[in-house]
Order: sequence, then structure tokens, then C-alpha cells
Amino acid sequence: MGLEYAGGIGRWQDPAIGRNGSSPEDGVSENGSSDGVEKVLIIGSGPAGWTAAIYAARASLDPVVYVGVPKQDPGPVLPGGQLMLTTEVENYPGFPEGVQGPEMMMKFEEQAKRFGTRVIGEDITECDFSTDGSPHTLRTSGGQTVRAHAVIISTGATANWLGLENEMRLAQTGGGVSACAVCDGALPAFRDQHVAVVGGGDTAMEEATYLTKFASKVSVIHRRDELRASKVMQERFLSKPNAEVLWNKTVVDVHGEEKISGVRLKDTVTGEEADLGVKGLFVAIGHTPATKFIRDTGLEFDDAGYLELKTRSSATNIQGVFGAGDVSDAQYRQAVTAAGMGCQAALDAEHYLGAKGLA
Ligand code: NDP
Repeated sequence: MGLEYAGGIGRWQDPAIGRNGSSPEDGVSENGSSDGVEKVLIIGSGPAGWTAAIYAARASLDPVVYVGVPKQDPGPVLPGGQLMLTTEVENYPGFPEGVQGPEMMMKFEEQAKRFGTRVIGEDITECDFSTDGSPHTLRTSGGQTVRAHAVIISTGATANWLGLENEMRLAQTGGGVSACAVCDGALPAFRDQHVAVVGGGDTAMEEATYLTKFASKVSVIHRRDELRASKVMQERFLSKPNAEVLWNKTVVDVHGEEKISGVRLKDTVTGEEADLGVKGLFVAIGHTPATKFIRDTGLEFDDAGYLELKTRSSATNIQGVFGAGDVSDAQYRQAVTAAGMGCQAALDAEHYLGAKGLA
């Protein structure tokens, strides 16, 4: 993109202007601790990361957050996480009128900074957790090495997209394409409208069932003649009077300038193409947790690649490494649950550091 994150969501600057996009007014210092080892280093800047930062900062743990750099992977990945790609958030408590996703993330960040959180506009690209409890060593995208007693991994998960140009454009501009029906499905734009869900798994069924409450008709578009979803979830959806499945179809294009007006479908058996007029498209073809950079560190993952946590704790199998938010949660994936997990991780880190005489 040629621009770097400058310690404030929506603030991008030329990399030549300042290392790490930091500046004194952002409260960013070159090194946050007297012994050169961070007490708490947080990777990721969604609701989990910022909440962990707020709690850690208020506990005088002087946290630093690596917010990441914007990239395409294959859809857009931004500091601030998935909420940066959402328009209105209506289900986060405390915002009775709703709030725009990016604005909410800016407020999270402001709150974390208010208590002295330092913010670095880089990715963590490599982690060495081999010492299992002694300071961990991490490498940044800027080529630096940092050490931290406690590391909170809150890098989130990214929704998988079809990868169509018009799909990505309308998703980024609030044009009626979304990867989260629970986040966006109840918005007025979709009420009493015909909408479509792509995918045949449990997520697609769950999202499609949820949408039947608001939309006049919900068409699930699936590329095969058999759903992958569990029987119970299939039946829950198919029992709705406004539900249908379009079998053996893939979406090959999305129509509409500012708002979606329809999709182009291709039959996977006959190859025939036809248009379907819809006012919303929900892509539910799975998520990918952002764990690539920690795959070979000795951390444990579940079969789908999510970071494995101990029951009712943010602790991983490695001492001093904690997980929070969607990177370790395939099930709920909500902003409010991620924030709660960020809180848990900061409290667990505080407890861990306290036991080592470092808090
Ligand atoms: P899944 O991987 O289970 O399903 C993804 C679906 O998307 C599949 O039907 C797949 O088709 C389809 N798909 C993948 N790529 C494409 C593509 N490029 N174009 C068109 N279709 C595509 O992911 P889910 O998110 O549904 O579920 C993930 C896990 O979470 C599962 O274990 C699931 O059981 C669990 N889950 C549980 C829930 C619950 O119990 N309440 C709710 C939601 C999820 P195909 O079938 O042909 O491969």
C-alpha cells in the first residue's frame, strides 16, 4: 500500500516520516522497559488486543501493542481487525444507537492510549518461544528484535472471501456484501429483501437461519448438491418458509455500483450462467485464523488452525504466552466475546507476571 499505520486507526503515513509510525504525541517510546524486556506485548489490534491493553495498562504493566500493517490476504486485512471492514455495529453493548466499526476501534485505541499503552505500526513476523517462560524473543516486520515476559496473541481470524473484485469493493464500502450476518444482517438495508448466503457449512446455515428473521427470502448458494453442515443446522434453516438452497452454483460476479443489485451464478454441472437479483450477499465460506507466523513455535492448535487454550483460561501450552479473541475462538467470533477474552488474557498475564515477581 506504500503507507504505514501511524498509531491511530485511519491514520496512515509515509514510512519515511517516522519509524514504526510513532511519534511522541502518540505516547510511543523507543523502549518501554528499563531492562529492555517488555512486560506485556500484545500482537493484534482488534477488540481483544485493545481490551487486553486497557487492562494491562491500568495494572501498570506498560503494554505495547503491535497493531500490524495493512495488507491483502486475500481480502483486506487492516489494523483494527475485522471491524474495520464492517459498517454499523448494533450489537455491542454501550452503543444504543449503534456505532461504525472503524469508529468503535478508534475509541478502543483511544481508551488504551489514555492509560499509557504504546502502539507500534508493525507486524510481529517471528516468535521464539523456546525458552518456555523466560523472556520470549520476537521479530518485527521492521527487522527489529524485541523481548517480552508475557505475550498476548490476539491476531484474529479473517473471513474467507470468494476473491471477486466487485465482492471486495462492495464489502469495503458497505454496499451490502458482508462476511458476518450476525453483525450486519439486521440492518435496515436487508429488511424484507431477498438476500443470499454463499457456503454450505454450519456457518452458512447459522447465518442464513438468522437472516430469515429479517429478509423476505434467503437463498443459500452452494457449489455442490449436498450441504456440509450438520443435519440439525440444515433442518433448522430449511424449515423456514422463506428459505431455499440453490444447488450446484457458484457466484462468479457481483452486480451493483454503490449497493449490490444481484449476483451472477454459474451452474457447476452445466456451466450455464444466470443472474439472481439480491439486496445482500453474505459470504460464509469459513474463516482462517491469523496464526501463520506462530505455526512452528511449539504452540498447540486445533484441527482448523485456531490457537488452543486451556479451558476457561487464556493460557496456551507455553508459559507466558496467552491467546485472546478470534485467533483462539472458532465458535463465537463476536466483538464482545473477543473483548472479554482480551480482558481475561490481561488478567492472566498479570497473574503470571506477579507470580514471577515482575508485576
Ligand atoms: P466449513 O469449512 O465447515 O464450510 C465452508 C463451506 O464453504 C463449505 O460448504 C464449502 O463448500 C464452502 N466453500 C469453501 N470455499 C468456497 C468457495 N471458494 N466457493 C464456494 N463455497 C466455498 O466452515 P464453517 O465456517 O461453516 O464452519 C467452521 C467450523 O465451525 C466447522 O467445524 C463448523 O462445524 C463449526 N461451526 C459450528 C457452529 C455451531 O455448531 N453452532 C456454527 C458455525 C460453525 P464444500 O462443502 O463444497 O467444501
